Amino acid sequence: MATMNEFERRRRERRMRERRRKKRIRAAIILIAFVCAVILIVILVMSRCSSNKPAEPVQLGGDGTSETTLSPQNEETPTPVPTANPMTIPPASENNDLMDIIEDADQEKRCYLTFDDGPTENITPQILDTLRRYNVKATFFEIGSLIQTNPSMARRVYEEGHLIANHSDGHNYAKLYVSTDTFMNEVNECYEAIKDITGEAEPFKLVRFPGGGFNSSADSYSPVKQECKDALAEYGFYYCDWNALNGDAEGRTKDADELLDYLIESAEGQDNLVVLMHDAAAKQATADALGSIIEYLRGEGYTFHRLDDIEYRSSSDSSSLDSGDTDTDENSDYDTDENSNSDDEDSTPAPQRTTAPAPSSGSSGGNTGPIIIQ
Ligand SMILES: [Zn+2]
Repeated sequence: MATMNEFERRRRERRMRERRRKKRIRAAIILIAFVCAVILIVILVMSRCSSNKPAEPVQLGGDGTSETTLSPQNEETPTPVPTANPMTIPPASENNDLMDIIEDADQEKRCYLTFDDGPTENITPQILDTLRRYNVKATFFEIGSLIQTNPSMARRVYEEGHLIANHSDGHNYAKLYVSTDTFMNEVNECYEAIKDITGEAEPFKLVRFPGGGFNSSADSYSPVKQECKDALAEYGFYYCDWNALNGDAEGRTKDADELLDYLIESAEGQDNLVVLMHDAAAKQATADALGSIIEYLRGEGYTFHRLDDIEYRSSSDSSSLDSGDTDTDENSDYDTDENSNSDDEDSTPAPQRTTAPAPSSGSSGGNTGPIIIQ
C-alpha cells in the first residue's frame, strides 16, 4: 500500500514538474513575442519619423539668430524632382525665348537662380550644399564636355533635384558660333550628355548661349546667335538669358559682399528674376556669397524655382484690358553679354492679371518668335 502511495506521489510530482515546465515555456514564448512586438513598433515609429523630417534644418546667419522656417518652401517635405510641364508655356515653335515667357507670365516674386559653366569638382559641391541647406532648387547650365569629365558631379546636381540645362559642348565662342550648324551640333552633343547623366528620354530642351543671346552690336557673334534662335525653335529648344546677376564675371574679381551688392542692385524693382551666376573653378566668391544672396531674396519675398517650373498664363487677354499697355521696354533690362555691366533700367512689373490660364496662346502681344533686343 505504502508502495502504491509512494508511486502515486511521485507521479503527481512528475505531473506538477511537467506543468511548471510547460508554464515556463509559455511564459518565455509570451515574453519573446512581447519583446519582438516592441522592437517592431520602435522600428516602425523611427522610420516614420525619419521620412517626415524636413530636408534640412535651416540656420540663418552666423550671429546666433536663427529661423526655424524661412519660407513656405521649407515646410515642404522633400519632393520628387519637378518635371517640366510644356503644356503650361507656349511651345518653343511659337516663342522659345524663356526670359520673355517669364516676363509675360502671370506670376509674382519668383526667382530662378542659374549657374553656368559647370560642373566643377571644387565649386559645384559647395553650391549644392548651400542650396540644400536652404531647400532651394536651381538651374545649372552645364557644358557637355565637363559633364563627361565630371559625371558624378553632374549626377549629384540632378539627384538633388536641380535642372540641368544646355550650355553647349565646348563653350569656345570661335568654334561654337561659326554657323547655326556648328552651334546646333554642340547643342546636340550637350543634350546627349544630359540624357546620359539623367537617364531621361527627353530632358527639358533649354539652352543658354555662352556669352548670352542678346542682340548687341558690340557682340561680333550676335548675327549668328540671332539665326541660332530660329534653329533652336525648329528643334524645340527654348533659350534663356537673364535679368539679374551677381557680377561674378564682370570686370575685376569681387568678394562675396560685393557680389551680394551687385545682385541687389541688378535685381531692384523686378518682379521675376533670372539670376546669372557661375559655377566655374575660379568662382569661390560665388559659392561664398550664395547663402547671403538667398537670404536677401527670400527676405524680399521671392520664392525659388527651376526654369522648367514657370506659372504661365497668357498676358494677352489682361494686357488688352490695360488698354494696349506696351511692355517692350522689358527688353532693355537685358545685359548685352556676360561680360558687360548690369544695366538696371527701370523694369515695369507685370500688371496684375486675373484671367484664366490660356496655355496655348500668348502671342498676340507682339511677342511671337525671337525678340529683338535693342
Ligand atoms: Zn558660360
